[in-house]
Amino acid sequence: MKLTILGCHSATPRTNTNPTSQVLEIKNHMFLIDCGEGTQVELRRNKVKFSRIKHIFISHLHGDHYFGLIGLVSTFQLLTRETELHIYGPKGIKEVITLQLKLSQSWTSYPLYFHELTSKESELIFEDDKVEVYTIPLKHRVYTNGFLFKEKENERKLDINAVLNANINVAYYRKLKQGADVENEDGILIKNETVTKDPVPAKSYAYCSDTAYNEAILPIIKNATVLYHESTFLDKNEVLCEPTKHSTARQAGRIAKKANVSHLILGHFSTRYNGYDEFEAQAKEEFENVLLAKDGKQFEF
Ligand SMILES: [Zn+2]
Repeated sequence: MKLTILGCHSATPRTNTNPTSQVLEIKNHMFLIDCGEGTQVELRRNKVKFSRIKHIFISHLHGDHYFGLIGLVSTFQLLTRETELHIYGPKGIKEVITLQLKLSQSWTSYPLYFHELTSKESELIFEDDKVEVYTIPLKHRVYTNGFLFKEKENERKLDINAVLNANINVAYYRKLKQGADVENEDGILIKNETVTKDPVPAKSYAYCSDTAYNEAILPIIKNATVLYHESTFLDKNEVLCEPTKHSTARQAGRIAKKANVSHLILGHFSTRYNGYDEFEAQAKEEFENVLLAKDGKQFEF
């Protein structure tokens, strides 16, 4: 599971800071999460192949999370893309994007699908044989979802020496990986656990931006491998959290602790601050394993 931060700041793009966007590589997917202004430039800078992006997840319709989307959709068209593109986001996203395409008379030649979200409960919005994606309803000034990307349980691993010794026909290897007991060539039942090893544990990534402190998300993100939680403010500006519906780094740490995640990545920093050490320090008083997002930074888990 590889996460590339394209932008991790709030509000306006500036010389050295980009608004929110990131790419999650998981089980051969390249999921683009949010698409602030400048995203396509950052995709190029970070050498992410445009053609590998087939699913874009937009948390909410504040500009710093989607103003790059129309540009990216248009660029795909100019690059004569043929692969279909799926966009998941709040109701209204189809209208705002298609209106721009309509007025510029530049319909895409590739299939463009919108999956508009309206539910206030967590729901499954994408699934294939390896991955599931759920929404995480957040508490913000407009309708907002985070997203939980979850690997499905991996297959058991064959202990190849044990399998060969047990004289099992190769036709049964698939069943063994799925956890079944099988008969060997001599008609003897072989217990699965004697010839296979436990699978690599499934990983998960919970993306939560933007949101006020909200313990209602805990059951959804519980035990996630990685939690990205917004930390717009430091303690000294906590008073701004309520009117803006954002969180402090300390609150992000508290959520990470209560959700029992393995790693916390802090992001969505207000551009009013110059350094980020204090974000890390304040979150660490609540939860030990804190990492700081940075534009262009990659994390592997
Ligand atoms: Zn917002």
